Amino acid sequence: MSELWKTPASRALRADGLRIADIDTSARPGFRGGKKDGEALLTERGKVLAGLQEKLYANGRSGDNRSVLLVLQGMDTAGKGGIVRHVIGSVDPQGVDHAAFGVPTEEEKRHHFLWRIRKALPRGGQLGVFDRSHYEDVLVARVHELVPEAVWQQRYTEINDFEQELTEAGTELVKVAMFVSLDEQKRRLRERLERPEKYWKFSPGDIDERAYWPAYQQAYQDVLDRTSTDYAPWYVLPADAKWFSRLAVTELLIEAFQKLDLSWPPANFDPAAELRRLDTA
Ligand code: AMP
Ligand code: MG
Repeated sequence: MSELWKTPASRALRADGLRIADIDTSARPGFRGGKKDGEALLTERGKVLAGLQEKLYANGRSGDNRSVLLVLQGMDTAGKGGIVRHVIGSVDPQGVDHAAFGVPTEEEKRHHFLWRIRKALPRGGQLGVFDRSHYEDVLVARVHELVPEAVWQQRYTEINDFEQELTEAGTELVKVAMFVSLDEQKRRLRERLERPEKYWKFSPGDIDERAYWPAYQQAYQDVLDRTSTDYAPWYVLPADAKWFSRLAVTELLIEAFQKLDLSWPPANFDPAAELRRLDTA
């Protein structure tokens, strides 16, 4: 770890006991450098991440069924898409299973809320990336009363059981909740409306959602309080500075990969004998 981190990202960003109302969205917990340092470090650490991911992929090819799953949550403009682009951009795309979750389709609505999530889980050897997730079913579903309270209340336990099952089956979960301030969100939405190349990111509903921010804060608070577990803790990411978000998620992923303690898979052939054969081939 670089000396620019006073505290490892996994410790500095742990959600334990954190009040959402107290988040300083412009803070860089654990990091002592500025933007220039952060960007230089990101280039370096992106390579470390790519090396680890290649090792996981190689093991997956040899039958290892372990995986890493990055779960990204956050309000519109929090920067989830930027993280996806950055993470996938810094590693070998064939080792990434990406899924984005929007409003459920008619078919998805007929199933249990975890049905579409299970279908999108990373295969062995893959780095899964979820842009939104099963947590929408206790966030937007709760805030907009899409289901009765008795239904969403029960989902926290269902989520914890599901994630325990996942981790026991060999998936290292990295759950990141990204927060920008309401002012920063306004600035980013304005940018989406002023630049034609950003129109595609805008939905008129994003503006309406701003009025629900207190309800979302409460819903996010309950997510952190009720679903941050030892096996799948939440990390809270102040996301006003994009370079910091990317650096922090890269570090969290590196730490997750390191927990897998990967080595290169052994050859299932005799390399010396194959070299001899190659010489005369
Ligand atoms: P975006 O991530 O900008 O493409 O937007 C996806 C939209 O889908 C957001 O408004 C989410 O709130 C919504 N969404 C995602 N999952 C669900 C869900 N389970 N139920 C209802 N809406 C959802
Ligand atoms: Mg959106």
